[in-house]
Amino acid sequence: MNKDSANMLDHFLSHLESVFSISLRDAQEIIRNFHQEMRYGLAGGKSSLKMIPSFVGRPKGAEKGKFLALDLGGTNIRVLAVELDGNGNAALAAVSKFAIPQDVMSGTDGKLFDFIADCIKLFFKENNIGTQQAYDLAFTFSFPVEQSSIASGKLIGWTKGFTAGGVEGEDVVALLSEALRRKGTGFIHVAALANDTVGTLVAKSYADPSCDMGVILGTGTNACYPEKIAHILKCPGLGASGEMIVNMEWGGFSQLKTNIYDHLLDRASLNPGKQLFEKMVSGMYLGEISRLVIVEMMERGLLFRGTSLSAFSKGYALTTEHLSMTAQGTDFFAAFGLRDVTTADRQTIQEICRIVSTRSAKLAGAAIAAVVAWMDEKIESDHTIAIDGSLFEKYPGFQGYMKDILNDLFGARSARIKLELAKDGSGIGAAIIGAVAAFARDGGGG
Ligand code: ADP
Ligand code: MG
Repeated sequence: MNKDSANMLDHFLSHLESVFSISLRDAQEIIRNFHQEMRYGLAGGKSSLKMIPSFVGRPKGAEKGKFLALDLGGTNIRVLAVELDGNGNAALAAVSKFAIPQDVMSGTDGKLFDFIADCIKLFFKENNIGTQQAYDLAFTFSFPVEQSSIASGKLIGWTKGFTAGGVEGEDVVALLSEALRRKGTGFIHVAALANDTVGTLVAKSYADPSCDMGVILGTGTNACYPEKIAHILKCPGLGASGEMIVNMEWGGFSQLKTNIYDHLLDRASLNPGKQLFEKMVSGMYLGEISRLVIVEMMERGLLFRGTSLSAFSKGYALTTEHLSMTAQGTDFFAAFGLRDVTTADRQTIQEICRIVSTRSAKLAGAAIAAVVAWMDEKIESDHTIAIDGSLFEKYPGFQGYMKDILNDLFGARSARIKLELAKDGSGIGAAIIGAVAAFARDGGGG
Protein backbone atom coordinates (compact mmCIF):
# COMPACT_ATOMS: atom_id res chain seq x y z
CA MET A 1 0.00 0.00 0.00
CA ASN A 2 1.42 3.41 -0.88
CA LYS A 3 1.47 6.33 1.50
CA ASP A 4 -1.55 8.10 0.01
CA SER A 5 -3.85 5.12 0.26
CA ALA A 6 -2.59 4.36 3.79
CA ASN A 7 -3.55 7.92 4.71
CA MET A 8 -6.96 7.57 3.12
CA LEU A 9 -7.52 4.34 5.02
CA ASP A 10 -6.52 5.90 8.36
CA HIS A 11 -8.71 8.84 7.62
CA PHE A 12 -11.72 6.65 6.84
CA LEU A 13 -11.21 4.49 9.94
CA SER A 14 -11.15 7.54 12.20
CA HIS A 15 -14.29 8.75 10.46
CA LEU A 16 -15.92 5.37 11.23
CA GLU A 17 -14.75 5.55 14.81
CA SER A 18 -16.46 8.91 15.18
CA VAL A 19 -19.80 8.01 13.52
CA PHE A 20 -20.05 4.90 15.73
CA SER A 21 -18.78 6.49 18.93
CA ILE A 22 -20.79 6.68 22.16
CA SER A 23 -19.33 9.42 24.33
CA LEU A 24 -20.11 9.94 27.99
CA ARG A 25 -22.36 12.80 26.94
CA ASP A 26 -24.21 10.53 24.46
CA ALA A 27 -24.72 7.97 27.24
CA GLN A 28 -26.10 10.63 29.57
CA GLU A 29 -28.50 11.75 26.87
CA ILE A 30 -29.60 8.15 26.30
CA ILE A 31 -30.38 7.88 30.02
CA ARG A 32 -32.47 11.08 29.94
CA ASN A 33 -34.35 9.94 26.86
CA PHE A 34 -34.93 6.46 28.30
CA HIS A 35 -36.43 7.99 31.45
CA GLN A 36 -38.74 10.19 29.41
CA GLU A 37 -39.89 7.30 27.22
CA MET A 38 -40.32 5.03 30.28
CA ARG A 39 -42.51 7.66 31.93
CA TYR A 40 -44.66 8.07 28.80
CA GLY A 41 -44.85 4.32 28.23
CA LEU A 42 -46.01 3.61 31.79
CA ALA A 43 -48.65 6.33 31.51
CA GLY A 44 -49.99 4.92 28.24
CA GLY A 45 -48.82 7.89 26.16
CA LYS A 46 -46.95 7.84 22.87
CA SER A 47 -43.59 6.19 23.49
CA SER A 48 -41.05 4.03 21.70
CA LEU A 49 -40.93 1.90 24.88
CA LYS A 50 -44.08 -0.24 25.16
CA MET A 51 -43.60 -0.91 28.93
CA ILE A 52 -45.85 -4.00 29.00
CA PRO A 53 -47.08 -5.34 32.38
CA SER A 54 -46.18 -9.04 32.66
CA PHE A 55 -48.67 -10.13 35.37
CA VAL A 56 -45.70 -11.63 37.19
CA GLY A 57 -43.76 -10.46 40.24
CA ARG A 58 -40.37 -11.68 41.42
CA PRO A 59 -40.42 -15.25 42.83
CA LYS A 60 -39.91 -16.10 46.48
CA GLY A 61 -37.50 -18.98 45.96
CA ALA A 62 -39.99 -21.45 47.48
CA GLU A 63 -41.70 -22.59 44.27
CA LYS A 64 -41.38 -26.35 43.83
CA GLY A 65 -41.93 -29.16 41.32
CA LYS A 66 -41.09 -30.28 37.79
CA PHE A 67 -42.14 -28.12 34.88
CA LEU A 68 -41.66 -27.89 31.16
CA ALA A 69 -40.61 -24.74 29.40
CA LEU A 70 -40.62 -23.84 25.76
CA ASP A 71 -38.32 -21.02 24.71
CA LEU A 72 -38.89 -19.49 21.29
CA GLY A 73 -36.04 -16.98 20.96
CA GLY A 74 -35.41 -15.95 17.40
CA THR A 75 -32.84 -18.40 16.11
CA ASN A 76 -33.63 -21.53 18.12
CA ILE A 77 -36.41 -23.32 19.92
CA ARG A 78 -35.37 -24.80 23.26
CA VAL A 79 -37.55 -27.28 25.15
CA LEU A 80 -36.58 -27.77 28.79
CA ALA A 81 -37.62 -29.78 31.83
CA VAL A 82 -36.80 -27.88 35.02
CA GLU A 83 -36.86 -29.12 38.61
CA LEU A 84 -37.37 -26.58 41.39
CA ASP A 85 -36.39 -27.73 44.88
CA GLY A 86 -38.16 -24.99 46.83
CA ASN A 87 -34.84 -23.68 48.19
CA GLY A 88 -33.90 -21.36 45.37
CA ASN A 89 -32.29 -24.06 43.22
CA ALA A 90 -33.52 -24.67 39.70
CA ALA A 91 -31.96 -27.67 37.96
CA LEU A 92 -32.14 -28.37 34.27
CA ALA A 93 -33.36 -31.99 34.01
CA ALA A 94 -33.45 -32.18 30.20
CA VAL A 95 -33.05 -29.86 27.25
CA SER A 96 -33.35 -30.15 23.47
CA LYS A 97 -32.54 -27.44 20.98
CA PHE A 98 -33.91 -27.06 17.44
CA ALA A 99 -32.99 -24.51 14.77
CA ILE A 100 -35.97 -22.71 13.27
CA PRO A 101 -35.94 -23.15 9.46
CA GLN A 102 -36.41 -20.05 7.32
CA ASP A 103 -39.62 -21.41 5.74
CA VAL A 104 -41.15 -21.84 9.20
CA MET A 105 -40.28 -18.23 10.19
CA SER A 106 -42.04 -16.94 7.11
CA GLY A 107 -44.62 -19.72 6.67
CA THR A 108 -48.36 -19.39 6.34
CA ASP A 109 -51.11 -20.13 8.87
CA GLY A 110 -50.38 -22.73 11.52
CA LYS A 111 -47.02 -23.93 10.22
CA LEU A 112 -44.91 -22.33 12.97
CA PHE A 113 -46.99 -23.78 15.81
CA ASP A 114 -47.17 -27.21 14.20
CA PHE A 115 -43.38 -27.12 13.95
CA ILE A 116 -43.12 -26.16 17.64
CA ALA A 117 -45.46 -29.02 18.64
CA ASP A 118 -43.28 -31.43 16.64
CA CYS A 119 -40.19 -30.15 18.50
CA ILE A 120 -41.91 -30.84 21.83
CA LYS A 121 -42.74 -34.39 20.71
CA LEU A 122 -39.09 -34.91 19.73
CA PHE A 123 -37.99 -33.55 23.12
CA PHE A 124 -40.06 -36.25 24.88
CA LYS A 125 -38.55 -38.90 22.64
CA GLU A 126 -34.91 -37.72 22.82
CA ASN A 127 -34.99 -37.50 26.61
CA ASN A 128 -37.06 -40.65 27.23
CA ILE A 129 -39.72 -38.77 29.13
CA GLY A 130 -43.01 -40.61 29.69
CA THR A 131 -46.19 -39.22 28.16
CA GLN A 132 -48.66 -40.90 30.53
CA GLN A 133 -49.10 -37.97 32.88
CA ALA A 134 -50.16 -34.35 32.43
CA TYR A 135 -47.54 -31.59 32.28
CA ASP A 136 -47.64 -27.87 32.86
CA LEU A 137 -45.68 -25.94 30.31
CA ALA A 138 -44.55 -22.33 30.40
CA PHE A 139 -44.15 -20.68 27.03
CA THR A 140 -41.39 -18.11 26.59
CA PHE A 141 -42.31 -16.13 23.52
CA SER A 142 -39.72 -13.46 22.83
CA PHE A 143 -41.71 -11.05 20.72
CA PRO A 144 -43.83 -8.04 21.72
CA VAL A 145 -47.06 -9.35 23.21
CA GLU A 146 -49.94 -7.43 24.76
CA GLN A 147 -50.50 -9.71 27.71
CA SER A 148 -54.02 -9.96 29.19
CA SER A 149 -53.37 -12.53 31.94
CA ILE A 150 -50.59 -14.87 33.00
CA ALA A 151 -51.58 -17.38 30.29
CA SER A 152 -52.83 -15.29 27.40
CA GLY A 153 -51.51 -12.56 25.15
CA LYS A 154 -51.69 -11.30 21.59
CA LEU A 155 -48.69 -10.78 19.33
CA ILE A 156 -48.47 -7.04 18.60
CA GLY A 157 -46.12 -7.46 15.63
CA TRP A 158 -43.27 -9.69 14.51
CA THR A 159 -39.61 -8.67 14.95
CA LYS A 160 -36.20 -10.33 14.31
CA GLY A 161 -37.00 -11.38 10.73
CA PHE A 162 -40.16 -13.38 11.48
CA THR A 163 -43.16 -12.91 9.20
CA ALA A 164 -45.21 -16.12 9.77
CA GLY A 165 -48.82 -15.58 8.73
CA GLY A 166 -51.89 -15.86 10.97
CA VAL A 167 -50.11 -14.96 14.22
CA GLU A 168 -50.10 -11.14 14.51
CA GLY A 169 -53.06 -10.00 16.60
CA GLU A 170 -53.75 -13.58 17.79
CA ASP A 171 -53.44 -15.16 21.24
CA VAL A 172 -50.23 -17.19 20.98
CA VAL A 173 -51.17 -19.46 23.91
CA ALA A 174 -54.37 -20.46 22.09
CA LEU A 175 -52.39 -21.10 18.89
CA LEU A 176 -49.87 -23.27 20.76
CA SER A 177 -52.60 -25.19 22.65
CA GLU A 178 -54.47 -25.90 19.40
CA ALA A 179 -51.28 -27.17 17.72
CA LEU A 180 -50.51 -29.41 20.72
CA ARG A 181 -54.00 -30.95 20.44
CA ARG A 182 -53.67 -31.37 16.65
CA LYS A 183 -50.37 -33.20 17.17
CA GLY A 184 -51.78 -35.56 19.85
CA THR A 185 -49.93 -33.89 22.75
CA GLY A 186 -53.00 -32.49 24.47
CA PHE A 187 -51.69 -33.84 27.82
CA ILE A 188 -49.50 -30.71 27.92
CA HIS A 189 -51.22 -27.72 29.44
CA VAL A 190 -49.89 -24.25 28.70
CA ALA A 191 -49.89 -22.70 32.18
CA ALA A 192 -48.04 -19.46 31.57
CA LEU A 193 -46.86 -17.09 28.87
CA ALA A 194 -43.64 -15.22 29.54
CA ASN A 195 -41.33 -12.91 27.74
CA ASP A 196 -37.68 -14.06 27.68
CA THR A 197 -36.50 -11.00 29.61
CA VAL A 198 -39.04 -11.70 32.33
CA GLY A 199 -37.97 -15.36 32.43
CA THR A 200 -34.34 -14.31 32.75
CA LEU A 201 -35.05 -11.95 35.64
CA VAL A 202 -37.23 -14.53 37.40
CA ALA A 203 -34.63 -17.28 36.98
CA LYS A 204 -31.84 -15.24 38.57
CA SER A 205 -33.94 -13.68 41.31
CA TYR A 206 -35.18 -17.15 42.37
CA ALA A 207 -31.81 -17.49 44.15
CA ASP A 208 -30.54 -13.88 44.28
CA PRO A 209 -32.89 -11.26 45.78
CA SER A 210 -30.66 -8.39 44.62
CA CYS A 211 -31.41 -9.28 41.00
CA ASP A 212 -33.70 -6.57 39.68
CA MET A 213 -33.22 -6.54 35.94
CA GLY A 214 -33.41 -9.07 33.13
CA VAL A 215 -31.70 -8.36 29.80
CA ILE A 216 -31.51 -10.24 26.50
CA LEU A 217 -28.53 -9.79 24.19
CA GLY A 218 -29.03 -12.50 21.57
CA THR A 219 -30.73 -12.43 18.18
CA GLY A 220 -32.67 -9.45 19.50
CA THR A 221 -32.38 -7.29 22.60
CA ASN A 222 -34.84 -6.39 25.33
CA ALA A 223 -35.08 -5.82 29.09
CA CYS A 224 -37.44 -5.86 32.07
CA TYR A 225 -37.42 -4.74 35.71
CA PRO A 226 -39.84 -4.79 38.65
CA GLU A 227 -41.95 -1.61 38.77
CA LYS A 228 -44.21 -0.38 41.56
CA ILE A 229 -47.75 -1.18 40.45
CA ALA A 230 -48.79 2.32 41.50
CA HIS A 231 -46.44 3.67 38.79
CA ILE A 232 -48.07 1.65 35.98
CA LEU A 233 -50.59 4.43 35.42
CA LYS A 234 -51.97 2.98 32.18
CA CYS A 235 -53.35 -0.09 34.03
CA PRO A 236 -55.30 1.29 36.97
CA GLY A 237 -56.95 -2.09 37.59
CA LEU A 238 -53.77 -3.86 38.71
CA GLY A 239 -54.06 -2.78 42.35
CA ALA A 240 -52.41 -0.15 44.49
CA SER A 241 -49.51 -1.88 46.19
CA GLY A 242 -46.77 -4.34 45.33
CA GLU A 243 -44.63 -4.64 42.21
CA MET A 244 -44.99 -6.19 38.81
CA ILE A 245 -42.29 -6.97 36.28
CA VAL A 246 -42.55 -4.68 33.27
CA ASN A 247 -41.35 -5.85 29.87
CA MET A 248 -39.88 -2.69 28.36
CA GLU A 249 -39.56 -3.87 24.73
CA TRP A 250 -36.49 -1.66 24.63
CA GLY A 251 -35.55 -2.89 21.16
CA GLY A 252 -38.05 -0.29 19.95
CA PHE A 253 -36.28 2.65 21.63
CA SER A 254 -35.83 5.28 18.96
CA GLN A 255 -34.21 8.42 20.43
CA LEU A 256 -30.82 7.56 18.99
CA LYS A 257 -27.93 9.09 17.11
CA THR A 258 -27.98 6.95 13.94
CA ASN A 259 -25.56 6.96 11.01
CA ILE A 260 -25.74 6.19 7.29
CA TYR A 261 -25.21 2.44 7.83
CA ASP A 262 -28.10 2.32 10.32
CA HIS A 263 -30.30 4.02 7.72
CA LEU A 264 -29.29 1.64 4.94
CA LEU A 265 -29.91 -1.39 7.16
CA ASP A 266 -33.26 -0.09 8.38
CA ARG A 267 -34.50 0.82 4.92
CA ALA A 268 -33.80 -2.67 3.55
CA SER A 269 -35.17 -4.47 6.63
CA LEU A 270 -38.47 -6.35 6.99
CA ASN A 271 -39.65 -3.76 9.55
CA PRO A 272 -38.41 -0.31 8.42
CA GLY A 273 -38.64 2.44 11.03
CA LYS A 274 -39.09 -0.08 13.83
CA GLN A 275 -36.79 -1.66 16.44
CA LEU A 276 -34.07 0.96 15.92
CA PHE A 277 -32.22 0.24 19.16
CA GLU A 278 -32.34 -3.50 18.41
CA LYS A 279 -30.89 -2.86 14.95
CA MET A 280 -27.87 -1.07 16.48
CA VAL A 281 -27.29 -3.53 19.30
CA SER A 282 -28.42 -7.11 18.72
CA GLY A 283 -26.77 -10.17 17.21
CA MET A 284 -29.08 -10.32 14.23
CA TYR A 285 -27.76 -7.03 12.88
CA LEU A 286 -24.10 -6.46 13.83
CA GLY A 287 -22.82 -8.58 10.94
CA GLU A 288 -25.00 -6.70 8.48
CA ILE A 289 -23.88 -3.27 9.73
CA SER A 290 -20.27 -4.39 9.30
CA ARG A 291 -21.00 -5.74 5.82
CA LEU A 292 -22.44 -2.38 4.78
CA VAL A 293 -19.25 -0.69 5.99
CA ILE A 294 -17.11 -3.23 4.10
CA VAL A 295 -19.13 -2.68 0.90
CA GLU A 296 -18.57 1.06 1.11
CA MET A 297 -14.86 0.61 1.78
CA MET A 298 -14.52 -1.74 -1.20
CA GLU A 299 -16.25 0.84 -3.38
CA ARG A 300 -13.85 3.52 -2.15
CA GLY A 301 -10.89 1.27 -2.93
CA LEU A 302 -9.92 0.94 0.74
CA LEU A 303 -10.19 -2.87 0.99
CA PHE A 304 -9.13 -5.89 -1.09
CA ARG A 305 -6.94 -3.79 -3.43
CA GLY A 306 -9.99 -1.99 -4.73
CA THR A 307 -11.81 -5.08 -6.02
CA SER A 308 -15.45 -5.53 -5.09
CA LEU A 309 -15.78 -9.06 -3.80
CA SER A 310 -19.11 -10.71 -4.54
CA ALA A 311 -18.86 -12.64 -1.25
CA PHE A 312 -19.99 -9.45 0.50
CA SER A 313 -22.74 -8.48 -1.91
CA LYS A 314 -25.60 -10.44 -0.37
CA GLY A 315 -27.54 -8.96 2.57
CA TYR A 316 -26.79 -10.61 5.92
CA ALA A 317 -23.94 -12.68 4.39
CA LEU A 318 -21.78 -11.57 7.29
CA THR A 319 -23.05 -12.68 10.72
CA THR A 320 -22.25 -11.78 14.29
CA GLU A 321 -20.54 -15.18 14.64
CA HIS A 322 -18.16 -14.07 11.88
CA LEU A 323 -17.38 -10.85 13.76
CA SER A 324 -16.89 -12.90 16.90
CA MET A 325 -14.34 -15.12 15.13
CA THR A 326 -12.48 -12.05 13.90
CA ALA A 327 -12.41 -10.61 17.41
CA GLN A 328 -10.89 -13.87 18.66
CA GLY A 329 -8.07 -13.52 16.17
CA THR A 330 -9.22 -16.32 13.85
CA ASP A 331 -11.03 -15.23 10.73
CA PHE A 332 -13.91 -16.04 8.44
CA PHE A 333 -12.12 -15.51 5.13
CA ALA A 334 -11.85 -19.22 4.31
CA ALA A 335 -15.60 -19.61 4.91
CA PHE A 336 -16.08 -16.84 2.33
CA GLY A 337 -13.80 -18.55 -0.18
CA LEU A 338 -11.22 -15.77 0.15
CA ARG A 339 -7.55 -16.64 -0.04
CA ASP A 340 -4.49 -14.39 0.08
CA VAL A 341 -6.09 -11.70 2.22
CA THR A 342 -3.37 -9.20 3.08
CA THR A 343 -2.39 -8.42 6.65
CA ALA A 344 -3.53 -4.84 6.15
CA ASP A 345 -7.00 -5.98 5.03
CA ARG A 346 -7.24 -8.38 7.96
CA GLN A 347 -6.43 -5.55 10.35
CA THR A 348 -8.97 -3.27 8.69
CA ILE A 349 -11.72 -5.89 9.02
CA GLN A 350 -10.78 -6.38 12.67
CA GLU A 351 -11.08 -2.65 13.23
CA ILE A 352 -14.53 -2.57 11.63
CA CYS A 353 -15.73 -5.44 13.83
CA ARG A 354 -14.33 -3.76 16.93
CA ILE A 355 -15.96 -0.41 16.11
CA VAL A 356 -19.40 -1.93 15.39
CA SER A 357 -19.43 -4.28 18.38
CA THR A 358 -18.14 -1.65 20.81
CA ARG A 359 -21.01 0.66 19.95
CA SER A 360 -23.44 -2.19 20.54
CA ALA A 361 -21.96 -3.00 23.96
CA LYS A 362 -21.85 0.66 25.02
CA LEU A 363 -25.46 1.24 23.97
CA ALA A 364 -26.50 -1.86 25.92
CA GLY A 365 -24.51 -0.63 28.93
CA ALA A 366 -26.03 2.85 28.74
CA ALA A 367 -29.54 1.39 28.56
CA ILE A 368 -28.87 -0.77 31.63
CA ALA A 369 -27.54 2.33 33.40
CA ALA A 370 -30.80 4.12 32.55
CA VAL A 371 -32.96 1.42 34.12
CA VAL A 372 -30.77 1.04 37.23
CA ALA A 373 -30.79 4.82 37.74
CA TRP A 374 -34.59 4.83 37.32
CA MET A 375 -34.91 2.34 40.19
CA ASP A 376 -32.12 3.77 42.35
CA GLU A 377 -31.06 7.26 41.29
CA LYS A 378 -27.85 7.42 43.34
CA ILE A 379 -26.94 3.71 42.94
CA GLU A 380 -27.11 3.13 46.68
CA SER A 381 -27.98 -0.59 46.54
CA ASP A 382 -26.57 -3.66 44.84
CA HIS A 383 -28.07 -4.59 41.51
CA THR A 384 -27.57 -7.93 39.81
CA ILE A 385 -28.41 -7.75 36.12
CA ALA A 386 -29.34 -11.17 34.74
CA ILE A 387 -28.32 -11.36 31.09
CA ASP A 388 -29.13 -14.15 28.63
CA GLY A 389 -28.10 -14.42 24.99
CA SER A 390 -25.16 -15.58 22.89
CA LEU A 391 -23.99 -12.06 22.05
CA PHE A 392 -23.33 -11.27 25.72
CA GLU A 393 -22.07 -14.77 26.46
CA LYS A 394 -19.73 -15.30 23.54
CA TYR A 395 -18.60 -12.05 21.95
CA PRO A 396 -14.99 -11.44 23.06
CA GLY A 397 -14.67 -8.21 25.04
CA PHE A 398 -18.38 -7.35 24.93
CA GLN A 399 -18.89 -7.51 28.69
CA GLY A 400 -15.82 -5.34 29.28
CA TYR A 401 -17.14 -2.54 27.03
CA MET A 402 -20.46 -2.66 28.87
CA LYS A 403 -18.64 -2.27 32.18
CA ASP A 404 -16.54 0.59 30.77
CA ILE A 405 -19.56 2.74 30.06
CA LEU A 406 -21.10 1.96 33.48
CA ASN A 407 -17.82 3.02 35.04
CA ASP A 408 -17.70 6.21 32.95
CA LEU A 409 -21.22 7.04 34.11
CA PHE A 410 -21.16 6.04 37.77
CA GLY A 411 -17.48 5.83 38.74
CA ALA A 412 -16.78 3.61 41.76
CA ARG A 413 -20.50 3.11 42.39
CA SER A 414 -20.67 1.07 39.18
CA ALA A 415 -19.13 -1.81 41.19
CA ARG A 416 -22.60 -2.21 42.75
CA ILE A 417 -23.94 -3.23 39.33
CA LYS A 418 -23.10 -6.85 38.55
CA LEU A 419 -23.59 -8.13 35.02
CA GLU A 420 -24.23 -11.87 35.27
CA LEU A 421 -24.84 -14.45 32.61
CA ALA A 422 -28.13 -16.26 33.17
CA LYS A 423 -27.65 -19.08 30.71
CA ASP A 424 -30.94 -20.60 29.64
CA GLY A 425 -32.46 -18.17 32.12
CA SER A 426 -35.34 -17.39 29.81
CA GLY A 427 -36.46 -21.04 29.82
CA ILE A 428 -35.74 -21.79 33.49
CA GLY A 429 -37.49 -18.60 34.57
CA ALA A 430 -40.52 -19.50 32.50
CA ALA A 431 -40.71 -22.83 34.37
CA ILE A 432 -40.69 -20.91 37.67
CA ILE A 433 -43.46 -18.65 36.37
CA GLY A 434 -45.36 -21.80 35.32
CA ALA A 435 -44.91 -23.17 38.84
CA VAL A 436 -46.38 -20.02 40.37
CA ALA A 437 -49.31 -20.10 37.95
CA ALA A 438 -50.00 -23.81 38.49
CA PHE A 439 -49.79 -23.36 42.27
CA ALA A 440 -52.30 -20.50 42.18
CA ARG A 441 -54.65 -22.52 39.90
CA ASP A 442 -54.46 -25.67 42.03
CA GLY A 443 -55.65 -23.82 45.10
CA GLY A 444 -52.34 -22.74 46.54
CA GLY A 445 -53.66 -19.22 46.80
CA GLY A 446 -50.57 -17.69 45.20
P1 ADP B 1 -32.06 -16.52 20.73
O1 ADP B 1 -31.87 -15.07 20.50
O2 ADP B 1 -32.70 -17.22 19.61
O3 ADP B 1 -32.70 -16.82 22.04
P2 ADP B 1 -29.21 -16.81 21.34
O4 ADP B 1 -29.28 -16.11 22.63
O5 ADP B 1 -28.38 -18.04 21.27
O6 ADP B 1 -30.61 -17.21 20.76
O7 ADP B 1 -28.66 -15.75 20.29
C1 ADP B 1 -28.40 -16.11 18.98
C2 ADP B 1 -27.69 -14.97 18.31
O8 ADP B 1 -26.46 -14.69 18.97
C3 ADP B 1 -27.34 -15.26 16.88
O9 ADP B 1 -28.35 -14.80 16.03
C4 ADP B 1 -26.06 -14.47 16.67
O10 ADP B 1 -26.38 -13.18 16.24
C5 ADP B 1 -25.45 -14.36 18.05
N1 ADP B 1 -24.32 -15.30 18.22
C6 ADP B 1 -24.32 -16.63 18.05
N2 ADP B 1 -23.10 -17.15 18.29
C7 ADP B 1 -22.31 -16.11 18.62
C8 ADP B 1 -20.92 -15.98 18.96
N3 ADP B 1 -20.09 -17.01 18.99
N4 ADP B 1 -20.49 -14.74 19.27
C9 ADP B 1 -21.30 -13.68 19.25
N5 ADP B 1 -22.59 -13.74 18.90
C10 ADP B 1 -23.09 -14.93 18.59
MG1 MG C 1 -33.09 -16.49 23.97
